[in-house]
Amino acid sequence: MPASTQELLKIDGSTGEGGGQIIRTALSLSMLTGTPIEIINIRAGRAKPGLMRQHLVCVQASQSISDATVTDAHLGSTTFRFTPHAIKSGDYTFDIGSAGSTSLVLQTLLPALLFANVDEHSKSTVIIKGGTHNPLAPTTDFLTEAFVPALAKLGMQVDIELQQVGFAPIGGGSIKATIAPFLRRANTLPFKLTERGELVNITLVANVLNLDYDICKRELASAQASLVESGIDKTLITTHSRKLQGIGEGNTCYAQVTHKVGELSTQQQHQEMFTLLGEKRSSAENMGSRLAGLVKRYLFNTDALVDEYLTDQLLLPLALAGGGEFSTRMISGHTETQAWLIEQFLPVQIRFNTIDDNKILVKVVV
Ligand code: AMP
Repeated sequence: MPASTQELLKIDGSTGEGGGQIIRTALSLSMLTGTPIEIINIRAGRAKPGLMRQHLVCVQASQSISDATVTDAHLGSTTFRFTPHAIKSGDYTFDIGSAGSTSLVLQTLLPALLFANVDEHSKSTVIIKGGTHNPLAPTTDFLTEAFVPALAKLGMQVDIELQQVGFAPIGGGSIKATIAPFLRRANTLPFKLTERGELVNITLVANVLNLDYDICKRELASAQASLVESGIDKTLITTHSRKLQGIGEGNTCYAQVTHKVGELSTQQQHQEMFTLLGEKRSSAENMGSRLAGLVKRYLFNTDALVDEYLTDQLLLPLALAGGGEFSTRMISGHTETQAWLIEQFLPVQIRFNTIDDNKILVKVVV
């Protein structure tokens, strides 16, 4: 249906969590469904309300890929209108022009580009310049090590490459995503990540950009010691570190934790990611033990498979790919808001079924 024949959907940006996520997800869903939207009260409860640079680039990039008509979107606007037209696959480059999160811009465009074409051969590429390792957002590592593997289980083929790392406040990073059109394949297994199987491995990674390489070794030693002390088999832990190339300075450490899914006989695995960014006031040893703390909370406090951040990021892909279910450690404000917003646009039901304090079953029914 042409976009102009659909009724305008008014979205109160202060609903629930009330942050940038409402803007990004509303843009994704507007493009996918052809629904014109008006968002009001944008980031009303935040210290600096209205559109910030990263959000504005999300609007502009969405406008480019869907040939949308946009009114009133500028830095600081607390309301704007967006009327999409046809989504076009292709090769795009967007520059945030600050250290704003490239991951969040990409996640806005990804659903639309996955559904842009039914021609299997017309892949899209998107290069986004800005920050690749930002606080309060998935890092590129989180995307490649947790988000992309989860999308693959839904039959969504996305490849993300870190071209150049970029930390706040300078940015200067770049990511490139290659997105194949989504075709539901008959041989895709139902998406069911409910039962946690055996722990397969824990990969600890520490990287620095123009900082002392010793920081990596100290972070890894501290994280590993803390995990081993808690009873985790040392042979399941591997460590890697790297000097990153780019401008500015930065440090990140992360843990990728892989479990088998369900019965021992299944070949499926689930990858969960825990990320920290170096801070001037935090020692390398402290970073390592904080990272181990995140892993231990996931390993010992719950037997759910998915953790907080992947939960809200999975809801939309799941709703678009035909539904499914997974267990999660917690339902955040982001997840609740995401579920509410998806149900405004799509005929799906998202249910949360509490098993215990640290395990909730999430079911997306299409
Ligand atoms: P908003 O606060 O509305 O801009 O949304 C932030 C998004 O970043 C949500 O999708 C969160 O799941 C995600 N996020 C925040 N912190 C992390 C983290 N440490 N690792 C992965 N994703 C994160």
